[in-house]
Amino acid sequence: FKIAFIAGTRPEIIKTAPVYLALAHHQDFEPVFINTGQHQEMSHMFLSLFNIIPDYDLNIMKHGQSLSFLTASILQELETVLQSVNPNWILVQGDTTSAFCGALSAFYQKIPVGHIEAGLRTGDIYSPFPEEMNRILVGRMSAFHFAPTHKAKDNLLKEGIPPHKIVVTGNTVVDALHWIQSQDKCLTPSEINRFLLSNPDQRLVLITAHRRENWEGGIANIAEAISRLANRFPEIIFVFSVHPNPVVRDQIYAILSNKTNVFLHDPLDYIDFIKVLSRSELAISDSGGVQEEAPSLGIPVIITRTATERPEILGTGLGYLAGTDQEAIIQIATELLTQKKKKEAKNIFGDGFSSQRIVQALLFSLSRSKTKPDD
Ligand code: UDP
Repeated sequence: FKIAFIAGTRPEIIKTAPVYLALAHHQDFEPVFINTGQHQEMSHMFLSLFNIIPDYDLNIMKHGQSLSFLTASILQELETVLQSVNPNWILVQGDTTSAFCGALSAFYQKIPVGHIEAGLRTGDIYSPFPEEMNRILVGRMSAFHFAPTHKAKDNLLKEGIPPHKIVVTGNTVVDALHWIQSQDKCLTPSEINRFLLSNPDQRLVLITAHRRENWEGGIANIAEAISRLANRFPEIIFVFSVHPNPVVRDQIYAILSNKTNVFLHDPLDYIDFIKVLSRSELAISDSGGVQEEAPSLGIPVIITRTATERPEILGTGLGYLAGTDQEAIIQIATELLTQKKKKEAKNIFGDGFSSQRIVQALLFSLSRSKTKPDD
């Protein structure tokens, strides 16, 4: 069976890679990777980390293009690619414009879509924007839904998706996390890795910020909060993985570039990122993936958003919703950084076998229908 993946951003590549690799090792499948290039340079860095050579590179990114333009470009390119690949199924992941366009393009060509990380909802169509709407629309177009948790499955059931079209698999990010940790020892240590090795007792906090909903005011607030925390905790190094988008990057550099204990870094590759995260006492992030990875490593996360589609983390002692209010971030961070007790790792989002469950579900569905899903 030919299964085409359509993905192009950093989180999609991290979360589809374990499924792609599992299918590549299975005799009944031929996976095809179509990289939309929505995160142009990062997509290649992450694909090569997982030893995936994309079969197609759409390369659609243009500087400063709008969402409509991006959507139109991906759809246009995908049409001919899908006609020539002619897959049995398409797999998309999550909630990006690439995922939405992948599902829509497949739908137009009557190719069944499987949605990895299905059923996440905040309940507010504008938060996160445009991701919440992307997920809802991908959900409407999908023939099969790989829900990471039972809560995600419940969200789909509430929207009328029949139960036999949903399988709870766990989140493939935990598979990716385990895979990357197993590869780690074979690689030459990078600069940041050498720093970690030669400073084993250095206290660290890891920060990421990128969400569109935080572009106006939120990012600056987060950076100000980090600046004040860096003054309050001079013995801690605050490692900020700065997203390459200039809207995000310029605001962060303007506020934090002169702080001696704030380390502003270009996006880290996945191995280094997970290394730093595992060594950190705390993560401060608006990222979805970080909310899933941190609990698997026992690292608490302050979520710099007003809502989360991953409510499973709240109340576990590993996830705190702070919005982008400086006082709230500083208060929660101060409490966590003055507690000495290390938190226990929790498998809230997956056990590392999600891709195997997806492969089994695909095999089951495909061998029953041969080419088309039942509906
Ligand atoms: N990540 C990474 N390097 C970085 C920052 C993040 O490898 O410098 C990984 C992180 O481990 C997570 C994913 O990127 O798996 C999250 O991507 P992002 O925050 O861009 O998207 P989201 O998860 O919010 O959709």
